[in-house]
Amino acid sequence: SAKTAALQKADSAHYLHPFTDHVDLAKKGARIITRGEGVYVWDSEGNKILDAMSGLWCVSMGYGQKSLIDAATAQMNILPFYNSFFNTSVEPAIELSALLAEITPPQFNHVFYSSSGSESNDTILRMVRRYWDLKGEKQRKTIIGRKNGYHGSTVAGASLGGMTSMHEQGDLPIPGIVHIDQPYYRENGLKLGVSEDEFGLIAAGWLEDKIKEVGADKVAAFIGEPVQGAGGVIIPPKTYWPEIQRICDKYGILLISDEVICGFGRLGTWFGCETMGTRPDFMTFAKGVTSGYLPLGGAMVSDRVVDVLYKDGDFNHGYTYSGHPVACAVAVANIKLMKEQDIVNTVKNDTAPYLKKAWASLNDHPLVTDAQSEGMVAGLIMLKDKTKNEAFDEKDNVGMICRGHCFDNGLVMRAVGDRMIIAPPLVISHAEIDELVGLARKALDATLSDLKE
Ligand code: PLP
Repeated sequence: SAKTAALQKADSAHYLHPFTDHVDLAKKGARIITRGEGVYVWDSEGNKILDAMSGLWCVSMGYGQKSLIDAATAQMNILPFYNSFFNTSVEPAIELSALLAEITPPQFNHVFYSSSGSESNDTILRMVRRYWDLKGEKQRKTIIGRKNGYHGSTVAGASLGGMTSMHEQGDLPIPGIVHIDQPYYRENGLKLGVSEDEFGLIAAGWLEDKIKEVGADKVAAFIGEPVQGAGGVIIPPKTYWPEIQRICDKYGILLISDEVICGFGRLGTWFGCETMGTRPDFMTFAKGVTSGYLPLGGAMVSDRVVDVLYKDGDFNHGYTYSGHPVACAVAVANIKLMKEQDIVNTVKNDTAPYLKKAWASLNDHPLVTDAQSEGMVAGLIMLKDKTKNEAFDEKDNVGMICRGHCFDNGLVMRAVGDRMIIAPPLVISHAEIDELVGLARKALDATLSDLKE
């Protein structure tokens, strides 16, 4: 329509988008999303789209939740802003902090707020180094992350993450951050000819190798996502995380679980570390804490770290919007809603097993292998020749082709190279999962026929 065209024109004239090819954008124009309800969004042309990515892994409770909207409106009227600097505080942040202490694992009783996942991971970098300084081990500065991990876009976030394309743009990582390879069985395990469980131990062993290389007395912490999300939903073998925990304990290294995607029920436990069997010292979160309705992030800090970090009083760190009252009020409403609906158990016992089976049915498609899920995240790989296990070339652009067909058929699915990934709202129904998988199959069929042409 003329209205859409005008919006697209203004959009590409003035709006610099995150992670967007602007040459492509200028040619095609943005798809403008105008409203949402449940697991669906609508674009400015009236097309209904099943949002299998929950926005950006965040709209866990779905669109249009009245109690979240009401909580925001009420708090806006009472007190839209006040800070928590210099001995002041605000009620919604106090209430949320107590709720978080209740739903997180027992070592966590304290939270530091930010407005995003990136800022939360930045916060950790400073906390970790300050912690070791106060412990009298100032030389412990190095933080180990993983190739293809994603921890945000700020300088520290992008450095902790292992995205080469991001490192190249901006001379990253900053000093003191190194990476090990990811626990991706298809890429790194198959060629070793070992089982997945054996591979999990080998991949965790890369951490120990790196610790020895850097020097055990120089390593401060290890950071990882329970399931790598933006890197393509890389589900680690069951043996991986317990072994990582063992190695961190052996060398006295702090473990940081980036729960920005896996936190707040996505894996069928409140936090991903509970599914993976680790006891982290830090958990960073964002996204699902408010179901994405307002920006809020934070870092849970374990008791043993808090005892050191705050023993002399101050840690000079904070953001204007740390503990923002409206964002915190929405988070409180969101967590209450999750509890009322018993959504975490519903995911674990009902929705996730249903998704697992439905998603795995795509494995019979001629393009598809490894259609796997963990909780409410899932991924699959498209192969050029399934009989020969032959991968696509990067230039085949197969992910982008498939993503385009999804969008055209009313489905948001994300592409990472040759992988298609989803993270649907936790409130998705069985019928909607069936619809999702049906639309995915249609898009895969269309991709296959494109490739044959
Ligand atoms: N950590 C993980 C695991 C993420 O997936 C993301 C965002 O996708 C971030 C951190 C960064 O969060 P934000 O975009 O809110 O800064």
